[in-house]
Amino acid sequence: MKTVNLDKLCRIVIPVEYRKALQIDAGSALTVCMEKGAIVIRPTSASCRICGGKAVADASLPLCRACIAQVKKI
Ligand SMILES: [Zn+2]
Repeated sequence: MKTVNLDKLCRIVIPVEYRKALQIDAGSALTVCMEKGAIVIRPTSASCRICGGKAVADASLPLCRACIAQVKKI
C-alpha cells in the first residue's frame, strides 16, 4: 500500500511499481469506480483473472462475462 497526495488539480501519480505490474503508462485507459467507500482504479482493458479473456470494464472484479456467469452459479 502506498500513500500519494492529490495535486492542485486533484490528480495523483500512480506509483511506478504499480504501473509496471499492471503494464500501464501515460495515456492508458483506466476505469475508476467506488467500492465500499474506496476509490478503485483499474486498467480498462484488464484481463479476466480466471481465463485471461477480456474483462468487463465496469465489473467490480476483473472477470469476463462468461466467468461472471459461472461464478454466479456456484
Ligand atoms: Zn473469464
